[in-house]
Amino acid sequence: MIQLTSAATLEKAINKARTVKPRVRVNCFGSYTVTNKQTGATYTVTCEKRDGNRFASCTCRAGELGRACYHLAAAVSAHLQLASERAASH
Ligand SMILES: [Zn+2]
Repeated sequence: MIQLTSAATLEKAINKARTVKPRVRVNCFGSYTVTNKQTGATYTVTCEKRDGNRFASCTCRAGELGRACYHLAAAVSAHLQLASERAASH
């Protein structure tokens, strides 16, 4: 579980996500399945908000070690988009 403090936390991971272009599937709001299309590996990323802080975690090895991996970055950007769409529809 890592805390998402600023965009800089995820910057490298976002760059990697742009190169790898993993597929992100929405399970439900806050839960995403990220697939590496090259290897077929899938990981689950969860995003949550606690006391106004955003946290995210990934089931891959890097994620378990508390590192910002590209799965997490890809899912977080999908999550933020979903969150803003939700906010706009209410
Ligand atoms: Zn990961």
